[in-house]
Amino acid sequence: MITHEQCLYWDQEDELKKFKDEFALPKNVIYLDGNSLGARPKKSLEVAQHIIAKEWGEDLINSWNKADWWGLPTRLGDKVAQLIGAEKGEVVISDSTTLNLFKVLSAAVKIQAEKFPERKIIVAEKDAFPTDIYIIEGFIDLINQGYQVELIDGADDLSRVLAKEVAVVVLSHVNYRTGYFYDMESINQQIHAKDALIIWDLCHSVGAVPMDLNQSNSDFAIGCTYKYLNGGPGSPALLWVNRKHRDQFWQPLSGWWGHKKPFDMAQHYEPANSIRRYLCGTQPIISMSLIECGIDIFLQADMQQIREKSLKLTDLFIQLVQQECAQFSFELITPLNHKYRGSHASYRHEFGYEIIQALIARGVIGDYREPEVLRFGITPLYLGFEDIWNAVQQLKQIMLNSEWKNERYLVRSEVT
Ligand SMILES: *Cc1c(COP(=O)(O)O)cnc(C)c1O
Repeated sequence: MITHEQCLYWDQEDELKKFKDEFALPKNVIYLDGNSLGARPKKSLEVAQHIIAKEWGEDLINSWNKADWWGLPTRLGDKVAQLIGAEKGEVVISDSTTLNLFKVLSAAVKIQAEKFPERKIIVAEKDAFPTDIYIIEGFIDLINQGYQVELIDGADDLSRVLAKEVAVVVLSHVNYRTGYFYDMESINQQIHAKDALIIWDLCHSVGAVPMDLNQSNSDFAIGCTYKYLNGGPGSPALLWVNRKHRDQFWQPLSGWWGHKKPFDMAQHYEPANSIRRYLCGTQPIISMSLIECGIDIFLQADMQQIREKSLKLTDLFIQLVQQECAQFSFELITPLNHKYRGSHASYRHEFGYEIIQALIARGVIGDYREPEVLRFGITPLYLGFEDIWNAVQQLKQIMLNSEWKNERYLVRSEVT
């Protein structure tokens, strides 16, 4: 039996609790959706003001040099690198995860086509975040060279497809819906043993779980900065390429920002011999600049400690739902085993959508994903143990009072 007092005690003992003060969260809100849109670092307001008023407003075009706007994609990339087991010069921040997948997929397929021309299968998961599958489909259609996408059911299904002519595998490190967490190193080994290449989508793992892209010998990675990294709505995404692949091929969105000498204004494209060859064109500088506020908080914290607290909080959430809401038939779809769990807990419930709306009305913000999935994101830098206690108490009240049956919760907004 877990008590409120016990949660208060865990909060007292929590070494990460001081970080909550770095974030601006509304009063009376328990925010369990930082895996979709991270909370705002307090500092980002001041930084936005500085960029808009000073760098743009006063220094105008000089800021490309003076404020090093030009260097932002790699300067921020070097910072993010520290969170994902990459080195300086291996990461750029640019564009969106969706676009970055197109770039690295092109590179991976091209590299493979030279070595293994008969390999025409690109593997993804059935349960992948849809944009990943859509981009693979669009890419296959565009190049029109007989490639096929093959969808797997999950980790256990990988060996089945790897018996075929696989060129590239695209996997989400942590699944956006279930929270399933792949063991990067052993999956890489399995894929490399069959001479295929791996692209990791880190959207739900960067800033949520420790990882080492180099040590685990990954090939390519992409991911969002607006989820666990708190970069702000739509902030540009990360892209990492293993050094051994970097200069082998240039990606087809070969815009001037990726050129070797952009300001030569040369007539033909020549890619930079650096990770900058993965850039396309001019970036949203204001949005990109704000990413630094979130990353700087992470760089003061310890990823291992964040992971430990994340597991304690998800454990607590799962145990409390079991203890307080057992009669309401929430079906846990997130792995109980820590080895396979990312940083959120998801449940299936027939009335998931309505229940989430009723929770939001009470200030507990989680989200809903088709089909019937209630998703609760755990962000250890700004959530405590009592928050989890309170969130589950609110859930219990909604269920006991059948509050979710109110017809206003039936109306579906465009964004769910
Ligand atoms: C959130 C998310 C995306 C989003 O991509 P955008 O290009 O930023 O819209 C992609 N992949 C996964 C796995 C995600 O969770």
